[in-house]
Amino acid sequence: LDKFSKLPKIELHAHLSGSVRYHTIIDLLNEELNALDSAEPQKIKSEIDLLNCLKNKPSISCTNSRSLSECFQVFTILHRLLNNLNILEKVTHDILQDFESDNCVYLELRTTPRNIYDQNRTKILVSKRHYLKKIINVLENFERCHKMRVRLLLSVDRAKGVQDGLENVLLANELESKYIVGIDFSGNPHVNSFQDFEQIFNICKENGLKTTVHIAEIWNDRDKDFILKKIRPDRIGHSVCLDQEEVEYLIQNPIPIEICPTSNLVTKCVHQIDKHPFFDFYSKNKNYPLTICTDDCGIFDITLSKEYELISEAFKLSHEQMFYLSKTKMNFTEILRWCNDYSASDAQGFDPFCP
Ligand code: IMP
Repeated sequence: LDKFSKLPKIELHAHLSGSVRYHTIIDLLNEELNALDSAEPQKIKSEIDLLNCLKNKPSISCTNSRSLSECFQVFTILHRLLNNLNILEKVTHDILQDFESDNCVYLELRTTPRNIYDQNRTKILVSKRHYLKKIINVLENFERCHKMRVRLLLSVDRAKGVQDGLENVLLANELESKYIVGIDFSGNPHVNSFQDFEQIFNICKENGLKTTVHIAEIWNDRDKDFILKKIRPDRIGHSVCLDQEEVEYLIQNPIPIEICPTSNLVTKCVHQIDKHPFFDFYSKNKNYPLTICTDDCGIFDITLSKEYELISEAFKLSHEQMFYLSKTKMNFTEILRWCNDYSASDAQGFDPFCP
């Protein structure tokens, strides 16, 4: 058992495709490799190599780090492998099981709705709507017989452009599912700018959809001012490449931050865990809302408990300090307001740590 596996935890930043079990990804790739009509065995072998490189055993400094762009190649592979509703159902269920086994009490998964095409990419086999309905169906079935609560954020992928993002936000509105609690803005930070998505941020606001935005995952992020000062989302993810002025600004005007330690190490956004900007916020303002998250636990083959351990060892935080970090640094009332089935008064009385 990991050192923090018994601690009740919340996970607010987990991408569905990136959370597919590492071994499932390798098995699916081997199936492709061993298929009689396997067209490109060399390509598949190099994809397996890439995954082996990304797999990271958390350590104080990460030696097998890869560039962010290489990490993004893995998502293309994953989207090819997760090509029907049965696989999607299985991997989603496995993800929920894994988080619950790790004693996660509230999991917010995020995913980019996508059409699944036939091999020639001419015919849509599964529409975005059906993709989402399948995932929601897995969450519903899971909640019926498990204690962990699960909710969904729909992602807008900056690399896919405004039209695609708009479709996702409209879908969130149309489906009116209690499981969909907000919109995540993510995708390769080297591609496009979130400033082009202002219209979508406005639609979210007009429709009362909560937002969380990936920010400062790379140093030359030109969107930082726009996001921090103009959009002011409900939460921000990563936020590791901020200068001192921006850190000070956030300390004065806090937006809850989703911290993803292993992801930042593997993608070289942070070079050493004991230099992680988590501590800038934690040490300057003990009440700053921070939450430790996994980002893509399948690709990195890690658990939420291991992320806690990484931070606790790097900054000499005791078990108790980690408990209070996760319990009090995030405002649970606020998080639970994201779940439409709780009124504010229910949320106040609800303590996911003592169910
Ligand atoms: P999906 O949306 O469930 O398919 O999960 C994979 C997607 O999440 C990727 O295609 C990216 O758009 C997004 N994603 C995963 N990790 C990161 C990250 O570290 N930064 C930005 N986007 C990410």
